[in-house]
Amino acid sequence: MKKQMMMIVVAATCATTVFAQLTVLDRYTIPLNKKGATVGKLVVPDGRKSVLVKDEAGIFVLNEGVLSLKKNVSVAPGTPFSYVVTIQCGNEIKSFELVKDEFVHNKVIAHRGAWKHHGVHQNSTGSLRHAIDLGCEGSEFDVWLTKDGKVALNHDNDLDGMIVEKSDLARLRTIPLENGEVIPTLEDYIALIKTQNKTRLVLEFKSNKNGRAIALTDSAVNIVHRLKAQAWVDYISFDYAAVKRVRELDPTAHIAYLTDDVPMDLLKADGISGIDYHYSLFEKLPKLYERARMLGLTINVWTVNDEQRMKTFLEMNVDFITTDEPALMLQLIGK
Ligand code: MG
Repeated sequence: MKKQMMMIVVAATCATTVFAQLTVLDRYTIPLNKKGATVGKLVVPDGRKSVLVKDEAGIFVLNEGVLSLKKNVSVAPGTPFSYVVTIQCGNEIKSFELVKDEFVHNKVIAHRGAWKHHGVHQNSTGSLRHAIDLGCEGSEFDVWLTKDGKVALNHDNDLDGMIVEKSDLARLRTIPLENGEVIPTLEDYIALIKTQNKTRLVLEFKSNKNGRAIALTDSAVNIVHRLKAQAWVDYISFDYAAVKRVRELDPTAHIAYLTDDVPMDLLKADGISGIDYHYSLFEKLPKLYERARMLGLTINVWTVNDEQRMKTFLEMNVDFITTDEPALMLQLIGK
């Protein structure tokens, strides 16, 4: 689908930036077929009033920080599916991309992309392309910070013996992956995911707990914002410092924690969006589900590869199921 983008300029007045917090909207998707639909509320450190100053598409209004479609305007399926908005916040000029909400909601998260039956490497551009082609709700991937400060995809600490954090991207790219590709960057993944508006990304921050997790988180979240990809990206990590850092940077991003060594009450108090636990935890502690629901946390379970477990978690109605077998799960749910 050929994407066309339209520029809309919105001006907002806001005060000093608090800490590293980024200027955000609380939603980046445009509901379909709904005249005057609310798109998102501008979240600025002091919540000061904002003003719409330019709208090339001529379809949006900004009223008291709430961006909406004009009263008699609605959007329908078909191109264009995204619109770029530029917001002025004090001296800051920042663009956001608003996306028509045609994202799929089938709970299927392809673990490191869809690679297993496709002859492609995990966390490769090919594995993401297959996850998109299959129609997964999301495609999960792992990122590290290279020695030269690039956000690169790899599951393990090393790629063919080369430690990712101690190597420059160019050196890592001398190692061919199984399917003839080279290690992708976050920018590569974002460029691909933004060619469509059905499948989203689930970005996992990797960490050796050596202090680079915060630098990685800062780099990755800022790349997502610079490339205006907020509508397409959720975050997860086993490193609670990274999880909390996402929340500091972006007050509305969806961020989930990958293990149960932090009580759910504390996750909730820290503003974390959800839990993302190994399936064995739910089997051992069935009340986890109820507890998470009571607290309003989203529920993801990993890594569910057999049919019976898929059925069980589908019946539980968890929000997301991460799997190495996305095609099997899609078959189960009748896609
Ligand atoms: Mg992962």
